Amino acid sequence: MTAAAIDRTAVAPAKAGAHAEQIWAWLAEVSDPEIPVISIVDLGIVRDVQLAADGACTVTITPTYSGCPAMQVIADAITDALHAHGLQDVRLQNQLSPAWTTDWMSEAGKAKLQGYGIAPPAQQVIDISGLRAGVGADGALAAISRRAQPRLTVACPNCGSRHTEITSQFGSTPCKALYKCLDCREPFDYFKCH
Ligand SMILES: [Zn+2]
Repeated sequence: MTAAAIDRTAVAPAKAGAHAEQIWAWLAEVSDPEIPVISIVDLGIVRDVQLAADGACTVTITPTYSGCPAMQVIADAITDALHAHGLQDVRLQNQLSPAWTTDWMSEAGKAKLQGYGIAPPAQQVIDISGLRAGVGADGALAAISRRAQPRLTVACPNCGSRHTEITSQFGSTPCKALYKCLDCREPFDYFKCH
């Protein structure tokens, strides 16, 4: 029998699936209040979107660090955006565990950060260039990244130099550290890894 295939179509009605996808797309247009070039989806804050049969939408978000003052602004922005798209019943759920990690930031998000003059967290693992060719799966790459962390070098987003030094643990927001490039002399924010 093809019972399994029949079950699968019954459990996931096409309509509900399409809606959740649409909500993710709408959320991808909501900017992070602290770094407007990056969306909250790119940042990895949005963890889950659930759409109930009665139309209630529950968005699960995880703050970039506990006590992040921007979270209320983000929650309001999500609610406003979904209301604007006609969703009446929007519920926000804060999920503190597992804690947000910079691994959840999308590659597109990291690229946007760099374009904005903020060194993205991936910079710290840039020293694996020799290994990269031999690594296929994302999981394997992540494992190597963690091992490579002690040799942290933050590249300057302006000139690319790794000749940089930290000047303050806290940059323009507590999520960021302030660095200075020793070559081009530009100060820059580094998005801290959690
Ligand atoms: Zn520089």
